[in-house]
Amino acid sequence: MPLGYLRCCPRCRGDVFVEQDIFGGTSLSCLQCGHVLTAAEEQTLLDRVHRARSVA
Ligand SMILES: [Zn+2]
Repeated sequence: MPLGYLRCCPRCRGDVFVEQDIFGGTSLSCLQCGHVLTAAEEQTLLDRVHRARSVA
């Protein structure tokens, strides 16, 4: 089951999924528009996810 974040794409609000890149690292990319998140966008997304979790 792939790890993903629904409606988290900063460009189109599509679904973002974690992909393994060829260097063995991971990157986040959007299923709908294909946008690959930058490090800064990843951080923003993760911050938002963690904040949402701590509130709930
Ligand atoms: Zn997108």
